[in-house]
Amino acid sequence: MVFEGLAEKLQDTFDKLRGKGKLSEEDVKSALKEVRMSLLEADVNYRVVKDFINNIEERAVGEEVMESLTPAQQVIKIVKEELTELMGGEHQEITFADSPPTVIMLVGLQGSGKTTSAGKLANHFKKEGKSPLLVAADVYRPAAIDQLEQLGKQLDVDVFQMGDENDPVDIVKGAVSSARSHDNDIVIVDTAGRLHIDEELMDELSRIKGAVDPEEIMLVVDAMTGQDAVNVAERFTEQLDIDGMFMTKLDGDARGGAALSIREVTGRPIKYAGVGEKLNQLETFHPDRMASRILG
Ligand code: GDP
Repeated sequence: MVFEGLAEKLQDTFDKLRGKGKLSEEDVKSALKEVRMSLLEADVNYRVVKDFINNIEERAVGEEVMESLTPAQQVIKIVKEELTELMGGEHQEITFADSPPTVIMLVGLQGSGKTTSAGKLANHFKKEGKSPLLVAADVYRPAAIDQLEQLGKQLDVDVFQMGDENDPVDIVKGAVSSARSHDNDIVIVDTAGRLHIDEELMDELSRIKGAVDPEEIMLVVDAMTGQDAVNVAERFTEQLDIDGMFMTKLDGDARGGAALSIREVTGRPIKYAGVGEKLNQLETFHPDRMASRILG
């Protein structure tokens, strides 16, 4: 699991702090120095670390904390609160349409896990009693259409496709009409991805956005790509004004920096996490639970 290395280091730091009883300003500062190092080693964005540590120091160095009965506990509590805040505070739900269907448009680079995540979301909503429709809007890779068809079969979920010779905008419009007439209340659009962000892709995604005005544009990002994921998210936020993120491969051995920085850098929350290749390996992303995992 991502964060393992970070969790171990932070827990070491706080064990030392707990062992001290009464704390001096120096004790807290040197603990925070260790926290800072651990976060940088975990590949958390430098600016993000700086602000994060400053916030904690402001709250943790002072009489109120140091004179309390359990100063180490207080410091750890503050770190946990700030870590939760860093990842967005409360869990952010996706936005549902007042009148169905709700359209969720998944965007992201090729290989980020878009198609798999589309299947996971369909499975997740189906379990909640909803009736999702998966839409194959990646016309550049016929294999992607097949992959979605397979997922649909596996999950017993409807799939909408028009082959690879139509404009993705028409496909998505057709899908929304089909959802209306078949009582599908959630439309999950698997869009095309490229290896790198390019104007043509952004233009296509903007056209789809303009045509169906999705309730949710969700960027799928791969936690394993570290700060690259953060940069990609910044670009997608600027150009498409995304609503949130689905961060995949949190089960991998990435250092966790992307998951910790991405919200702060983009201002957009992670809403779901992928924690394995299987279709039930989806977690709704709760910043406080993540912070607890990191801090033990
Ligand atoms: P796409 O090109 O963005 O549509 O990506 P795919 O959905 O085809 O996924 C690319 C690879 O990542 C596949 O091998 C998936 O099984 C894998 N994958 C997707 N999500 C996860 C995840 O949360 N954890 C792990 N370990 N693998 C994932």
